[in-house]
Amino acid sequence: MIDQLLEGNEQFIANEFKPNEAYYQSIATRQTPRVLWIGCSDSRVSEHQMTGSRPGTMFVHRNVANIVAFNDVNISSILEYGVVHLKIEDIIVCGHTRCGGIAAIEDGVHENYIADWLCIASGAKVVADRVAAERGLSRDQKLELLAEENVKLQISHLKNRALIKNQHAKGNLPRIHGWLYRVETGKVDVIVDGRAPHGAA
Ligand SMILES: [Zn+2]
Repeated sequence: MIDQLLEGNEQFIANEFKPNEAYYQSIATRQTPRVLWIGCSDSRVSEHQMTGSRPGTMFVHRNVANIVAFNDVNISSILEYGVVHLKIEDIIVCGHTRCGGIAAIEDGVHENYIADWLCIASGAKVVADRVAAERGLSRDQKLELLAEENVKLQISHLKNRALIKNQHAKGNLPRIHGWLYRVETGKVDVIVDGRAPHGAA
């Protein structure tokens, strides 16, 4: 596998980097991404590939089930650097279908660290439980709904961060968007459309 990856790097240099040398040299000195991506660590959810973007487009944070945790120094530093220094215009929180983290929220897990982490998304399950019961959803439908509700919940966590709250109170960016990536089709569904007027608030 490792040999394949290194061979892939040679192909990347030959087929992508060299033909676009000017672009890659322009980002070699300074990155100016306009988007901050908060996504799941899942191997099938590649933010640059799914959006047809080149390196340099997005500042990226990924964790299990795309969670915005209040006590996570990692995401705090990424938010601060992204919003204050890189002056990110848009933040995308992207969940996905067939997410192992979402299934674990639904089913419960016994591993200590994973359970603690997923606890931060438990509010999404409360909503999904209620709606699934009302609508008589199948398990797959419910997991999809839970993935969507988790995106909405993490957006509310994001908007309650003092850093973001203060920016929005001043009428500043970033706009916040919620997406769901479908691993079965490659399609992105917009769950929360931050492009709408007053979408930043
Ligand atoms: Zn996932």
